[in-house]
Amino acid sequence: MFKQRVFIILTYLKIYMNIDKQKNFSEWYNTVLDLAELSDIRYNVKGCIVIRPWAAKTIKLMYEEYEKELERNGHKPVIFPALIPKKNFDIEKEHVKGFSPEVFWVEKAGKEKLEEKLALRPTSETAMYQMFSLWIQGIVDLPLKVYQSCQVWRYETKATKPFFRSREFYWIEAHTAFATEKEAIEQVKQDMQMTEHVVFEKFKIPFIFFQRPEWDKFPGAQKTFAADTLMPDKKVLQLPSTHLLGQNFSKAFDVGYLNSEGKKEYVWQTCYGPAISRIYGAMICIHGDERGIMLPFEFCPVHIVIIPILTKEVAQEKITQYCHSVYKIISNFGYRTILDESENTPGYKYNYWEVRGVPIRIEIGIKEVEEGKVTLALRDKKEKEQKLLVAVEDLSQRIRFEANEFNKRLEKRAIDTFQGLQTSAYSIEELEQKAKDFGLIKIPFCSIEANGETCAKFLKDKYSLDVRGIKYLDAEKPIERKCIVCKKEAKEFVYVAKQY
Ligand SMILES: [Zn+2]
Repeated sequence: MFKQRVFIILTYLKIYMNIDKQKNFSEWYNTVLDLAELSDIRYNVKGCIVIRPWAAKTIKLMYEEYEKELERNGHKPVIFPALIPKKNFDIEKEHVKGFSPEVFWVEKAGKEKLEEKLALRPTSETAMYQMFSLWIQGIVDLPLKVYQSCQVWRYETKATKPFFRSREFYWIEAHTAFATEKEAIEQVKQDMQMTEHVVFEKFKIPFIFFQRPEWDKFPGAQKTFAADTLMPDKKVLQLPSTHLLGQNFSKAFDVGYLNSEGKKEYVWQTCYGPAISRIYGAMICIHGDERGIMLPFEFCPVHIVIIPILTKEVAQEKITQYCHSVYKIISNFGYRTILDESENTPGYKYNYWEVRGVPIRIEIGIKEVEEGKVTLALRDKKEKEQKLLVAVEDLSQRIRFEANEFNKRLEKRAIDTFQGLQTSAYSIEELEQKAKDFGLIKIPFCSIEANGETCAKFLKDKYSLDVRGIKYLDAEKPIERKCIVCKKEAKEFVYVAKQY
């Protein structure tokens, strides 16, 4: 009975292991969410998922990393209520227009109908800035830089996808206020650097920062900059965005101070929003392979799994004892380690931990015991090249080295894939052709100001391509090029892509 069950599960894993992420991304993603037990979509509120322990552990580690980075850059933590009165919402006109269709409202409490509707925060500008107006009285109160780690609710009407787009998701929002516009612009640049430090250097997710076109800005912002990455199906996924709010909100919420001449000055503001649960989804998809998920070493819930190979009933006790001592040694190094002593076969255990992306597997059989060694297998390598025999006294050094190499390979694969999916096109025909094989395509374009929207709409309607904006850093300017849609002079190179 027991053996039969193992057999069935193994067969299931075998089927799963043949899913090619590039060719059949949707099936790959759904299967991996299930098999690695990352989320459960059976929760009975549409568009909301349950995040299971294996994913929740990584998400917590990601939060810690981001919070450290924000605090290093002078942001202080705050915790705001999730409920926002309707009247706050109505204050900034563009903001209310942009967010209205997505807001969940609380209208009743117990039996009482509330006097004023309360919004479940979709984002916290309207909650925080009324408090900013109380906190900021003089220039001494500036700059003000705060962040909160929380969840937000948005009534998404597009199809939801676990971690990518849910009606409740987990993020960090950072909000700032400065005396000058210059400082606010500097903050936007700092937000981009933080994204580079965390999302690329730590999470190993490559991206490009774009200045979004006029018609695709955050509601109420002067300028929006957002990082885009590519998924295996060549669609872009938006990662953190940072917004130059100018004085739009500070004037609306009366956030200012009296200058030395006794004249009222409004503050200059920015906000920044890394959606941690979505970045987690991106990490799964970018690093995973046909055998399951992979994560950068530091963000794995378990770094090392030890699997005893108890063949032919020989020396079982000796092997078990040896496993326990190796487990102790490695745990003392500070690695999150599991000794898998379950009744399952070694083959089943290999699959089980591979699907979950444990980067290092240690196998211990009689040979290893006799030689005072362990066999180390690396998650991202093919079966034949993945095994190394390492002496116990060398383990500390060796694990550190392999963890580092593992991360380097992860990063290189991610960059190669990302770059391989980018190209350029100089005519509509060329664009149509290349859109089949590439994710981000650079094209000469008339303008990301409001007058370019008609051309953008054409690309969207005809090819489902969105104008993502101009590259923020080292943006190349077109020389004597025409917009590939309207044929007017091209002012910019923009990138277009299909998006989630
Ligand atoms: Zn045009």
